[in-house]
Amino acid sequence: MEKIKIGILGATGIVGQNYIKLLQDHPWFQIVDIAASPKSAGKSYFEAVKSKWQMSIPIPAELRKLIVRDVQDFNSIPDDLSFVFSAITMPTKDQVKEVEFKYAKNGIPVISNNSAHRWTPDIPMIIGEINHEHVNIIPVQRENHGYRNGFIVVKPNCTLQSYLTPIFALEKAGYKVDKLIITTLGAVSGAGYPGVASLDIVDNIIPYIGGGEEEKTELEPSKILGSVGGKKIINNDSIHISVTCTRVPVIDGHTACVNVNFKDKIPSKDEIIKIWTEFKSLPQELELPFAPKQPIIYLENEDRPQPRKDRDNDKGMAVTIGRLRKDSVFHYKFVALSHNTVRGAAGGLILNAELLKSQGYIN
Ligand code: NAP
Repeated sequence: MEKIKIGILGATGIVGQNYIKLLQDHPWFQIVDIAASPKSAGKSYFEAVKSKWQMSIPIPAELRKLIVRDVQDFNSIPDDLSFVFSAITMPTKDQVKEVEFKYAKNGIPVISNNSAHRWTPDIPMIIGEINHEHVNIIPVQRENHGYRNGFIVVKPNCTLQSYLTPIFALEKAGYKVDKLIITTLGAVSGAGYPGVASLDIVDNIIPYIGGGEEEKTELEPSKILGSVGGKKIINNDSIHISVTCTRVPVIDGHTACVNVNFKDKIPSKDEIIKIWTEFKSLPQELELPFAPKQPIIYLENEDRPQPRKDRDNDKGMAVTIGRLRKDSVFHYKFVALSHNTVRGAAGGLILNAELLKSQGYIN
């Protein structure tokens, strides 16, 4: 099968580099276009990225000589591009919105990490195992904006990925959740490159993450758990969520300490673990290349999950949970971990792209 030709916007950043690493040898997708800021444009990918390459593999030989395009040079978009992954940061969200709209208008589907379009009502914010059916809003989006082939799909904030799939699994099994109180311990790679200064984070914890991290982590679940209704996605506000986000000296892997209260029926501890470990969804049924075989892994060891030991479970795509126990104020508490730049960024969106292909939106 000839591979689908794709581009990476923001290919020189932390998330962009993760795409380069994760898409090596992908069975369906082949990177043929790389774009970044005007500062990198015109350089070979090797020249543009060599001083900030963070991946554990060498820069792939076939991409080293590729010339980086300016993200905003719409005339130089290759004709044979099927879609782009967007991993750009820009001074304002409106600038990102505009760039992503323009790619969609130019007939290029955009699958984006950026938060700019997360609240655009006809743009789906997808976690493959939870709300894959939200792709059905794409024809409406195309009609609303006059796109022929283009569209925009986004993913949620990386921090909520550790706790939302386990909570969704419990809801799907009939145990409705009322309240969550969550404290997150966010890895430094979550701030991009160069990110947090070493003198701020080494030997330290910072009890604040800018850019609305807490608000995103509290509010985005309502859209993900919502439903497609008419011309937009209708939010579901049934779970009350309070989050404190902190930054800790860990390179990759966001951890969340979660306290959960149920509405009426309360599952036993054994039931919860059974629901989590047996949870599967459409990406697993379709055996998509990036789908973790077991999306939620429960570890019995009392000192797990730990970022260094557990973030790479199932290619970094699984959520790993431990320490499920009764709480003296809420019903239960547990600790959850997910890889922020893989499951929470590049890997999560590669899975979304595979889902879109399987549903006929990408070809
Ligand atoms: P990053 O390391 O700072 O990389 C930013 C990328 O955007 C670079 O390729 C940069 O190109 C490009 N860029 C900067 N200014 C630009 C401009 N004016 N025009 C066009 N491109 C520009 O950031 P990151 O961590 O990879 O994050 C990328 C996106 O993913 C952000 O929206 C972020 O919120 C989101 N995200 C990140 C994570 C994570 O864990 N890091 C998780 C989920 C989502 P140059 O190298 O040429 O400057």
